[in-house]
Amino acid sequence: MSLAAAIRTIPDYPKKGILFRDITTLLGDAKAFRRAVDELVQPWSGSKMDKVAGMEARGFILGGAVAHQLSAGFVPIRKKGKLPYKTVAVAYELEYGVDEMEMHEDAVTKGERVILVDDLIATGGTAQGAIRLLQKQGAEVVAACFVIDLPDLGGARKIEAMGVPVRSLIAFD
Ligand code: IMP
Repeated sequence: MSLAAAIRTIPDYPKKGILFRDITTLLGDAKAFRRAVDELVQPWSGSKMDKVAGMEARGFILGGAVAHQLSAGFVPIRKKGKLPYKTVAVAYELEYGVDEMEMHEDAVTKGERVILVDDLIATGGTAQGAIRLLQKQGAEVVAACFVIDLPDLGGARKIEAMGVPVRSLIAFD
């Protein structure tokens, strides 16, 4: 079965006119989950990666698995107010308005090689914010990796324009 076939599409969620790509069906399918993680790590197997960063909440699931497979540490990036220690914050663009995301100030150290992992890139606002946070603390963001890209929304182009290569496993119109 293809990875795309393991993803469930829900019309009009979270609001009318949106086609929501639901990866919980992929996560619940042992073969598809393994394959997605294997494909995400493939370009870096055998090369040294210090950390994998994942954005709350689905980025934690995929990023944790990817970090384990690469023998790298994991860095959680969370919505404002959820992390217990000293944080650095950045504002990022949502479809309507802005919000803030945070990371512990000591989560990465200068020069560490990091990949960012999330389930899906749409406009790229979330990934852009996460990359800014990692770079602010001196990390080298080697790539941003997603299971799904929605190319019509231009997110991957936005991230590549920051000088960070984008890797995605599936594209949906
Ligand atoms: P962006 O900031 O516009 O690129 O949106 C990406 C973020 O929104 C990611 O953290 C995704 O988890 C979430 N997201 C947006 N659309 C979907 C969807 O259709 N399915 C799952 N997550 C989505």
